[in-house]
Amino acid sequence: MWNKIKEESVKFFSWRSLKTRIFLIVLAAGLIPCVVMRYGIINYYEDRAVSLRTSDVQTQVKIIADHLLNYNYLQDTSSEVINAELDQLSNLYDGRVLIINSNFKIVKDTYGISEGKTIISEEVIKCFKGQSTSNHDVNNGYIEITTPIMPTGTTATEKSEPTPKGTEKESIKGVMLTSVSTDSIVATMEILGRKAVILEILICLVVLGIAGIMSNILVKPFNHLTDAINEIKGGYTEELISVPDYSETVHIVDAFNQVLGRMRRLDDSRQEFVANVSHELKTPITSVKVLADSLLAQGDVPAELYKEFMEDIAAEIDRENKIINDLLALVKMDKTASDLNISVVDINELTEIILKRLRPIARKRDIEVIFESIRQVTAEVDEVKLTLIITNLVENAIKYNKDQGSVKVVLDADHQFFTIQVSDTGIGIPEDSMEHIYERFYRVDKSHSREIGGTGLGLAITRSAVLMHRGSIKLSSVEGEGTTFIVKIPLNYIVP
Ligand code: ADP
Repeated sequence: MWNKIKEESVKFFSWRSLKTRIFLIVLAAGLIPCVVMRYGIINYYEDRAVSLRTSDVQTQVKIIADHLLNYNYLQDTSSEVINAELDQLSNLYDGRVLIINSNFKIVKDTYGISEGKTIISEEVIKCFKGQSTSNHDVNNGYIEITTPIMPTGTTATEKSEPTPKGTEKESIKGVMLTSVSTDSIVATMEILGRKAVILEILICLVVLGIAGIMSNILVKPFNHLTDAINEIKGGYTEELISVPDYSETVHIVDAFNQVLGRMRRLDDSRQEFVANVSHELKTPITSVKVLADSLLAQGDVPAELYKEFMEDIAAEIDRENKIINDLLALVKMDKTASDLNISVVDINELTEIILKRLRPIARKRDIEVIFESIRQVTAEVDEVKLTLIITNLVENAIKYNKDQGSVKVVLDADHQFFTIQVSDTGIGIPEDSMEHIYERFYRVDKSHSREIGGTGLGLAITRSAVLMHRGSIKLSSVEGEGTTFIVKIPLNYIVP
């Protein structure tokens, strides 16, 4: 049980799993905006709260600064009105106010600890030059604001603006340095942060659920696909699979069905081939058995009949032998597809030799065999296989010819290929048989072919040998008039 759960979770959390990726992407898409938003909102709140507080304090301090001059506070700090205003300000913002006169001397400190001391800080100097400043010290949690004390009507510039030339600089009588705490802003930010985290956890749980559901739903069609493929056991039924959920699964299924179709066709042709082989091999044996049995069945067999039967038996054995040899040639062709024994061969000479061997057979039926060599051809070929090609074609041209007919072999070449054209004046091939002619054991007229010693393997062997040389074979035929085969092979062997 534990192992199963472990296995499942390892499967789910494997990075190669589409489910895991969808899960993580949905999770990230849900959570990243949440976290970014939290930081964005909190930072925006802080900036806004600090600037509001700064401007509030500045307004109040400016009012007090005016009062200071009216009460001549820089010379005499005993004014209760002003002291009360200063206390109120520092209480309100949990801050401290220092009032500095033109000698940089602190005349009033609401904390009461620095009075009488001299203060020369950058901000104070800037303020005496007419530049109000405000600084937010994030680490220590306060805002420091300097405000010039000057008669109404003259104005100080805001922080970092260039010092204006003119009278207001001389009219600055003192500076108010106010520090206000940002604790309340920080506290609000903390509360906001805590609430945001709680919200984030809730959103996280929801997004986790959504991510889990989404990854399951989105991956389901691929599970259907796997199930559908698994259901086709062995792939040899007529069934096709269909998973129309996504266009992607449709494409995969189309490709799979095509492969399946090819596999089935291959299997069919394999089965057909095996059936054909056993049938072809059995036929001569059956004849031999029938002939032998009938000889045995007769008590006193005359010598002539005995001889006749034995000749028939020998012919059937020859036939069996020829089928086996052709089959072996075919199988060898399949096995050693890239294993040609290439040499430079004089094609004219080779053709002459083959025709010389076949002419006696042709002569028996008064068939003329003509060789027309348009040019001298030498090429890189496998001599044995090219011999098979030419022999099979010329043999067929003789076998399927009419008596007193003719066979013409034309050899030609261009700068890339040589062509061997074998034409006859024979029985021709019907149009609907042309596409099957290269199939193993295919014969247009089975009994006629058998009679003249055909196995139905010759053209299959020929075509394999031509393709091994990266060549092509074409045929044209008119029934009753004759057939022409044209073989085209590269002069130079193309290494695969
Ligand atoms: P086979 O051993 O029967 O001749 P092939 O594979 O060489 O087998 O030829 C297949 C069939 O094609 C033959 O049975 C025959 O019907 C037909 N065929 C081949 N060559 C010719 C031709 N030159 N003229 C007419 N029919 C032909």
